[in-house]
Amino acid sequence: MRALCQREASSCGACCGLYNAADPSPAAVRARLDARTDALAGLPRTPEAFRAAAARAARHEPPPLFPSVRVCPLLGWIDAPRTRVGCLAHPAVTGGPDLRDCGAYDRGTCDAFLCPSHAWLAEAEAEMVDRACADAVLYGLVVTDVPFVRAALGAVGDLAGARVQARHLDDARFRQALREVLALKEELEPGSEGLFGAFRPGQDGEPVPRLIDYASLGRGPSPHDALLTCAGADPRSGNDLDRLEVEVRRRLEACTRAFPG
Ligand code: SF4
Ligand code: SF4
Repeated sequence: MRALCQREASSCGACCGLYNAADPSPAAVRARLDARTDALAGLPRTPEAFRAAAARAARHEPPPLFPSVRVCPLLGWIDAPRTRVGCLAHPAVTGGPDLRDCGAYDRGTCDAFLCPSHAWLAEAEAEMVDRACADAVLYGLVVTDVPFVRAALGAVGDLAGARVQARHLDDARFRQALREVLALKEELEPGSEGLFGAFRPGQDGEPVPRLIDYASLGRGPSPHDALLTCAGADPRSGNDLDRLEVEVRRRLEACTRAFPG
């Protein structure tokens, strides 16, 4: 199993186009996963049946927000209670045949792809993101954005006066408060830089920092600049910087109050 795609409490389908639609809200994402899972349920596990079903499902998908990023109609719920997102064409899910050639890419591409977070995110960070998100929608938005994870954990640690560690997430109140900080990702305008992690490598291969153009707003930088910048709070992304700044402060302070020490 890949280290980040299927975790103990969370799962991710970001690279299969999970969020690539005008409405990336949790309800809309879940509805799309429901529709695809229903469309493939009970079908023969054959390439012909899957290709035809994928083509039918694709016709009902909303247009992608970013046309250059493919949206795979074979991404759905892989467990009966519909808590875990994953590939419905994978042999571990079909019970035998590998049907990934019927999707948006081909089997080799699906098999080989690892998002950049696999190289950057430390296991302890991944564990904290998994336990704080504990779902199939918020997790994928967060785990694919390493600068955001580090900015969030760093901001909480700075305010609390101690580095956040995995053991702190044993505390349910703190876990929920940290989730609220990470859930800023679910409240950004569609197409926001911060929504999809917006990975842009510089010449050295490291990510190019994102920036908020404070000067154009006639104000100085926010004390929460690192987190707001990673969240893509720049008004040019369509977000209300002042509202997000208030939210960031409120959620960070709640985290500090719940910090188990
Ligand atoms: S975006 Fe990364 S973590 Fe998510 S499913 Fe793809 S490879 Fe896995
Ligand atoms: S076939 Fe490939 S792109 Fe489609 S859901 Fe499976 S892994 Fe993702």
